[in-house]
Amino acid sequence: MTASLLPNYIAGQWVTGQGAGTPLFDPVLGTELVRVDATGLDLPEAFRFAREQGGSALRALTYRERGALLTAVGKVLQANRDAYYEISTANCGTVKNDTAVDVDGGLFTLGHFARMGETLGDQRHLLDGEAARLGKDPLFQSQHVLVPTRGVALFINAFNFPSWGLWEKAAPALLSGVPVIVKPATATAWLTQRMVQDVVNAGILPSGALSIVCGSSAGLLDQLQPFDVVSFTGSADTAAVIRSHPAVVQRSVRVNIEADSVNSALLLPASSAEDAAATLELLAKEVAREMTVKSGQKCTAIRRVLVPEALYDAAASAISARLAKTTVGNPRNEGVRMGSLVSRAQKNAVDQGLAQLMAHTEVLHDGRSAALVGADSAVGCFAAPVLLGTREPDANAVVHDVEVFGPVATLMPYRDMPQALQLIRQGQGSLVASLYGSDAAALASAALELADSHGRVHVISPDVAALHTGHGNVMPQSLHGGPGRAGGGEELGGARALGFYHRRSALQASTAVLTQTTPVT
Ligand code: NAP
Repeated sequence: MTASLLPNYIAGQWVTGQGAGTPLFDPVLGTELVRVDATGLDLPEAFRFAREQGGSALRALTYRERGALLTAVGKVLQANRDAYYEISTANCGTVKNDTAVDVDGGLFTLGHFARMGETLGDQRHLLDGEAARLGKDPLFQSQHVLVPTRGVALFINAFNFPSWGLWEKAAPALLSGVPVIVKPATATAWLTQRMVQDVVNAGILPSGALSIVCGSSAGLLDQLQPFDVVSFTGSADTAAVIRSHPAVVQRSVRVNIEADSVNSALLLPASSAEDAAATLELLAKEVAREMTVKSGQKCTAIRRVLVPEALYDAAASAISARLAKTTVGNPRNEGVRMGSLVSRAQKNAVDQGLAQLMAHTEVLHDGRSAALVGADSAVGCFAAPVLLGTREPDANAVVHDVEVFGPVATLMPYRDMPQALQLIRQGQGSLVASLYGSDAAALASAALELADSHGRVHVISPDVAALHTGHGNVMPQSLHGGPGRAGGGEELGGARALGFYHRRSALQASTAVLTQTTPVT
């Protein structure tokens, strides 16, 4: 692995930026790996080429044919999987299990949409609902249709999922017939670039269907035209910049935002000591897992843990006991359970956020004194699991507001369900909340109470303990996104994911004409 400047792929060509480039580092060893640079790229041509060449070639295909392309893409990625694991270890500091969440999670999501192509069949548009008559005579009706937008899908992605973040967006876009330009976060751009390179070199997709710009985002948004769409994942601050960009405001470009989120886990009151112990154990296991997977650098990770007052101390002990087993260090070492953060900047941000929370909380578990395994804390960008607690969550606004993007969560007691739900809502809208309990009626009621402020509510009762997919795992079948502070975006959710890449139109015509628009599957 020699430090070299990674080329960008635009307008059907590999193009190296004209600047010296921004270095990407190994966050464990501190060594420089590769550089990225987007200086001097012909962005207007990149967007024109993608729209005209990539878009028209994709739209000429049926959903089934585009699904088959995704299957072929998946095979190429599968064949190069070992290289992706190596890059992730080197550039993201991840242990194998955490790399799997990103790399294999991306492949799984790609496969989901590849199969959806088969289901949607030999059509090039989708019907949206039933036809409705417009007057007394049923001859003249209205039928809504969804057709692929004739623009580019621009993805501006976050650093924490260089693989999954690409494919969870690219799969539905390409299946919809919309070309993609991806700009990965600079710190971890290597894995995204390498995956795109492998797919491009395999010659599977039509020219212009998949492009990548690595490095600065300067000038990208200026290229947007009315039928383009933007899908952004990252901080609320950058989201605000994108939302207010003149191209977005003046050309009505559709934007999907996935931003910060202070997600919660809630343990419901139990009717017996036995039930309380069983459901507390489920919660503790999941909280410890969520805090430590990818060193807590997951937008869906549990940040707030709410338990009945009487169980506060027991919950603190149960979660701490699990966290104490987490070995932190060099991910190349088999004994290590949690690797590093992705960069020095993230390490600083986590330290800063933790200090802010610690000023208002008690420390229930502090893994920072444990020795790193096979790594040097002066060189590597490591964070250790820290469980904080506050006994007065009503009065402690900061714990509902500050998202520490690392292995940190805050435990808090609640008096009754109305207070618990109110505390969760203080997150101002989150990606996911998980509920733990054994009373189906109480779980259902709480889930519906929280549904308006969450993109997903994950409900765990003992009967699904061994089956559930995990609080933080984003499954392609379920919605990903959240209202309010979480950005207001919606991704995935099965076939719903295609909606963003289509335009809806009402065809008002005779039944004879509308019959001709009914696709054959
Ligand atoms: P960020 O600074 O907002 O960066 C995100 C992306 O935006 C990067 O690709 C970045 O490029 C790019 N960018 C930065 N400034 C830009 C601008 N002015 N115009 C256009 N693009 C610009 O976010 P971050 O701090 O790296 O990411 C962490 C945050 O993402 C966390 O707060 C987390 O909650 C959130 N997140 C949310 C989700 C979700 O699904 N909801 C998933 C993951 C992360 P550079 O890297 O080149 O600066």
